[in-house]
Amino acid sequence: MLCSDVKRIVYFFLDGSLGSRSQLEFNSHLIGCPDCEQRLCFQRQLRAFVRRRLAPLNAPERLKVRLTRTIRVFEAAD
Ligand SMILES: [Zn+2]
Repeated sequence: MLCSDVKRIVYFFLDGSLGSRSQLEFNSHLIGCPDCEQRLCFQRQLRAFVRRRLAPLNAPERLKVRLTRTIRVFEAAD
């Protein structure tokens, strides 16, 4: 597995929707690649942050829009 593969499937990995074989390859790549490990760590924190912020049902719609936009900026910058 290459770094570009990791980048492509990191969301599936975090969703737990990766096949067991891919997950194994994903994990073994991470062991030898600090860059991808860092990327996974960042994405995990970002998701946790967003989930916390979006969790309350009464979260203002405006905040949701702003957060979504922020995530797009992160993804574009990567
Ligand atoms: Zn890598």
